[in-house]
Formats: sequence, structure tokens, C-alpha cells
Amino acid sequence: MWNSLGQDDAIQMFLLAKTENRLAHSYLFFGPDRVGKATLAEDFARLLFCEDEISPCGDCLPCKRVTSKTHTDINWIEVGGERDVGFSKSKSKSKSIGIDRIRELRTAINIKPFEGSQRLVVILGSEDMTLEASNALLKVLEEPPENVFFLLLTSNLSMILPTIISRCQLVKIKKVSDEFIKRYMIEKYQFEDSYALDIARLASGKIGMAIFIADNPDYLESRLEIFSRIHKLLNSGLEERFDYSERLAMDFSRDPEKVHNELRMWEIWWRDFMLVQFHSSDKASSTSNVEDFLELANFVEIDDVINILKTIGRSIKLLQSNVNPRLVFDQLVLQTPVIRKK
Ligand SMILES: [Zn+2]
Repeated sequence: MWNSLGQDDAIQMFLLAKTENRLAHSYLFFGPDRVGKATLAEDFARLLFCEDEISPCGDCLPCKRVTSKTHTDINWIEVGGERDVGFSKSKSKSKSIGIDRIRELRTAINIKPFEGSQRLVVILGSEDMTLEASNALLKVLEEPPENVFFLLLTSNLSMILPTIISRCQLVKIKKVSDEFIKRYMIEKYQFEDSYALDIARLASGKIGMAIFIADNPDYLESRLEIFSRIHKLLNSGLEERFDYSERLAMDFSRDPEKVHNELRMWEIWWRDFMLVQFHSSDKASSTSNVEDFLELANFVEIDDVINILKTIGRSIKLLQSNVNPRLVFDQLVLQTPVIRKK
């Protein structure tokens, strides 16, 4: 039983490799946040440790221990070590995986497995490793102990050392179609067609994101709140814009994920805005804003919309690379188009 959805290519590849006894020692899963990397990593772990003839069965003791994260032959490594799988809720203040963790790991994997005959190391958010940690891991990957497998997961391949990449077999974790997500939402949650489609469009191909939205109805509500804030900002002067920036910076210091979510909402709002400007409102992620957009579309130049979309994308990248958040948010509010009613 595989829990991954829409990752048939990767699943077939693993099944074949397992049957032919030629699983690679290290795989690097890459793909956007919440696309299903961690779920596939769990599936891989069950495939590796399952005792049933048809693995992964999901029901045998090793399978259950993988699912409950209590399998003693697996090391899950991530920032803080407390992040809920796939949901980026880091409770720790540490923002990186340091060399100490890799040193501990090196000791751990040289001990004989407790339960089975092999060990598995899963590094979630591999881009969070410090350079020192990456180099230490590279040494391990260059001469991996017998029967130890490594799964490195990342949503940012460009932040992984090329020398590490060259030691791993790359596995792209794919986005799925809106139709796929919509069908799944209807089947699993019995949602109405239109609600299922709204979620599918918001998730833009990331199944984990769709499940997150389905399980957190607040998310859709907070989306409307954020949308109304952006709308208001268009008519606002400098003072209000800097207030908004200050609020984002404060939120960011307490809960970066909340702000990342807000910026993703910005992206969605402006992308929809552009679609309406190009008379493609049927492709918009939600139908609720279309009326507003039609009213505003004449007062905002398309170039300004393209510019703000670029600024949002750049802001998200800059925040990941430890730039002063306040400067990033100031730029964002300054680049936000001003409504020029004629
Ligand atoms: Zn099993």
C-alpha cells in the first residue's frame, strides 16, 4: 500500500529496483513544498523494511513502526527535529542542520541495525544543512557503510552542494493536475465540485497543499482576510504601506511560515488579477475576487502587475537567504501598484 498520490513513475522505479536488488544508496527527492516528498520518503521506508511478500503492505510491524516514526533503524533529520512532516511547523529556534547532527549520525549508522538488516537516513529540508554539515555528509555519502540508505529531500535544489547532488540519484517529485486533485478532494472529503476545484486551483498541483487546505478550513478564511488587505493597500499611502511592512516583519520573527503563507496569497491574488486583465478569469484560482478585479483592472497597468509578481517571487527567495526581512517587506509594499483613478 503506497500513500503517495500521483507519483507512479517514482513508485515503479523503486519497485523495480527493489525487485532487482539494485536500490541506489542515496536518492535526492526534489520538488516544491508540500508536493509529497515526505510522503514518498515514508513509502520508501516501508518498502525497504516491510516483511510482507508484497511490500509495502502497511500492516506488518515494521511498516507500522515506519508510519508511527518509531522504527529504530531510521534516522529522521530535520531542522529542530520537531517539524510535522510536510507542514513546516518548526518549533525550534535553530534555523539549520548543523555539523553536530551529522557527526551524531555518522556514529549512529555505524552501529548494527536493531530491528532489520539495513538502516535508512532521511534528511528533510536538506537545504537547511550548513556548509560544514553538507561537507561532513558528503564524506559519508562517498563511502557509505554497508546496507545504509540515504534519502535527501529538498524544495530548493540550487542550495544543495553539487558534489552531494552528484552522489545521489535524483528523483523529481511531480505536481499533479488540478483535475486529479479535484477528484481526490471529492472522493476523500465528499466536497462539492466547486469547492474541490477552488482547493485544486489554490494548491496548484501540490497534493500535500490540497490536503492541508482541506484539513484546515481556517486557511481559506485567512485567505479572504489577506486578499482584502492587499486590496486596501492599493489605495493606501506611504504611511499605511510601511505599517503593513512593519507588521509583516514582526510576524516573520515569530512565525515565518505564517508570512510565507501570506506571500503565497499575494502571489495568487496578483496572478488572478493578471488573468482577469487578460480576459481569462475562468482560470483564476477563485471566483470570489473576479468582480473586484474587473473593477480595478482599468486602473492598474499590466507592467505594474508583472513587476509586483516578480517582486513577490524575489521576496520569497530573499527571505530564505537570511536577508533583513524588514527591507524585503519595505520593497514589497513600495512596489505594490498605486490605484490611479482617472
Ligand atoms: Zn509491511
